[in-house]
Amino acid sequence: MNDLNQSVAVLTGVGAQTKDRLEKLGIRVIQDLIFHLPLRYEDRTRVYPIGSLSAGMTVLIRGRVELADIVSKSRKSLVCKVSDDTGLITLKFFHFSANQHNMLKPGTLISCFAEVRYGFGGLEMVHPDYQIIANPDAEITEAYLTPVYPLTEGLSQTTIRKAVKHALTLCHHQPQLLTDWIPEQTLRQYAYPTLAEAIQTLHAPDDTVSTEALLNGGVPALKRLAFEELLAHHLSLCLSRNKTKAWQAPIFDGTNQLARVEQFLKALPFKFTGAQQRVIAEIEADCGVPQPMMRLIQGDVGSGKTVVAAYAALLALTAGYQVAVMAPTELLVEQHKRNFSAWFESFQVNVVFLTGQIKGKARKEILQGLAEGAVDIVIGTHALFQDSVLFHQLGLIIIDEQHRFGVNQRLALRDKGQQGNIRPHQLVMTATPIPRTLAMLQYSDLDISIIDELPPGRKPIVTSVIPAERRTEVIERINSWVGKKRQVYWVCTLIEESEVLECEAAEKTADFLTLALPKVRVALIHGRMKSAEKEAVMQSFKNHEVDLLVATTVIEVGVDVPNAGLMIIENPERLGLSQLHQLRGRVGRGEGDSYCLLMYQSPLSDTARQRLGILRDSNDGFVIAEKDLALRGPGEVMGTRQTGAINFKIADLARDADLLHNIQQVGEQIFKHSPQAIQPLCERWLGTSTEYAEV
Ligand code: ADP
Ligand code: MG
Repeated sequence: MNDLNQSVAVLTGVGAQTKDRLEKLGIRVIQDLIFHLPLRYEDRTRVYPIGSLSAGMTVLIRGRVELADIVSKSRKSLVCKVSDDTGLITLKFFHFSANQHNMLKPGTLISCFAEVRYGFGGLEMVHPDYQIIANPDAEITEAYLTPVYPLTEGLSQTTIRKAVKHALTLCHHQPQLLTDWIPEQTLRQYAYPTLAEAIQTLHAPDDTVSTEALLNGGVPALKRLAFEELLAHHLSLCLSRNKTKAWQAPIFDGTNQLARVEQFLKALPFKFTGAQQRVIAEIEADCGVPQPMMRLIQGDVGSGKTVVAAYAALLALTAGYQVAVMAPTELLVEQHKRNFSAWFESFQVNVVFLTGQIKGKARKEILQGLAEGAVDIVIGTHALFQDSVLFHQLGLIIIDEQHRFGVNQRLALRDKGQQGNIRPHQLVMTATPIPRTLAMLQYSDLDISIIDELPPGRKPIVTSVIPAERRTEVIERINSWVGKKRQVYWVCTLIEESEVLECEAAEKTADFLTLALPKVRVALIHGRMKSAEKEAVMQSFKNHEVDLLVATTVIEVGVDVPNAGLMIIENPERLGLSQLHQLRGRVGRGEGDSYCLLMYQSPLSDTARQRLGILRDSNDGFVIAEKDLALRGPGEVMGTRQTGAINFKIADLARDADLLHNIQQVGEQIFKHSPQAIQPLCERWLGTSTEYAEV
């Protein structure tokens, strides 16, 4: 035996049944077993004098049975009294056999392990784990803390402990099996134990390790493993990025590029900000070499990412390639179509859009145009990555609001454009900033550009947090706002994740506001309306034929109507901070003042109050994300709305956040000095499911 990737079945005592049960816990090979860590520990390393016990302690005792009686009050039970030189304690069994009663005869020497509780007759142990001591001189203590493992039905602690013990013995005899891939220098720097030591400590901690530290994750052994796991995830993303760089990609350098860039810039109604220019230069550099660009643009809501993407599209078109733009909602697709069509008006570029709603002949025509190259830019929802969509020569993929898509959706689209070993460039955009430390785990496969400047003339949005009891006041405010020829959003938030209920609530609110505001033109938009209806409503809001738009969270991303400067968000406590920040980003897009009223339902919890306070006090998405991180921990920030949320075996982002700071640096060292460690580390922690390596 020379390999930890062998089935656990080779271990002594692991039969077919145990093997099946272990498999239910995800344990197939010996390595899995070794990395299956205890949930908690029991301390059987010392015997406590009975006289020293108090309620709440979980301890090992040793004593003589004084009496053992079957008592039948409300419930039949076996009650024993056990004493040593220092005191007396009661044992209680509600389930017992006649044999058990016989064995616990007065005078019998026993050891018991259980939690001590207060009973009617003083201290007691209920259903202790007990053993009859045949030889009074025998040692009853254990050398190590006893691990308690996560189990599955039919598997006992004893069985899994034995299996782990065998696995550890194996490693002990052949230390080369547990190869330590963390550089020695790093181990020294962070005072981490070696892998073998860490594994030994966690499965069989001796009495020098504090149980408390073991349980709250403070021991270096656990930190080290968590660090290794996080590092492995980071490395696998870096690996995937290197793989991508090994592909070929088209170079975008059309002959008449300069002239076309000038023409494009002239037609724009504004000048690029410094940040936009910087990011554009980064994109030009990426597309000027024959490797696929893999770039993420992070930029706050309203920072002007779309036009930067359009510029990248211009480069692709000029070089004779097609462009695919993917956006998460139909509303956003339609808006991008309008913008791109306007910006490319003088270029004779054929822009189409493709969503799930387009069917039959219209759809067929679009597909044909894409396959033959008659369509230059296609803008669409996830409908874009269906099998029937084929491209003539796809050179650039743009993905807007990428956090709303799964990694696999991104992948599918990229594979579409592959011709031979040539792959399209990829530009990914998000307005949901991920704090730098977390980006290590989420975006290491991408180069990151940040647009950290808003277009000039934007005034900060003034945000207030107010209780729903002040609704009348809010309605009055809408009236005077509309009197100033400005427009308003009223957002109804998600009710228990149900779109139907959310839409109903929005309908009711729209009815109510129509009655309450007779002079105001009210319209409604929600996710259950047909695409054409939504488009019509959005268009009339844009044309200022509507003053007040009552909406569900469908307007969260992308929607751009600069004259709308007042937003009321009902029940903001139901949403995450980054989502609220996105929603709020629908206002503050023009030159006038803008306001956001967060109208909460009382009473508000302390955390909710703090969170809304963060939003009131800052307009900066990065600051908000960092503060949210500090308040709620990375798990929440990366949360369920973030695709690619990772399930870790050992690492816990809330507990181990401090480890993230060093990951990148150590990752770089490994790439430089011990690249042979990368593959085995990824395999150890990510298994053969190399989904990350393929992203
Ligand atoms: P986001 O980054 O949130 O996607 P958009 O691309 O929708 O932002 O841009 C928001 C608004 O700002 C749009 O109306 C866009 O035309 C405008 N805009 C973009 N860049 C500039 C600029 N440099 N100067 C002025 N307005 C700009
Ligand atoms: Mg946008």
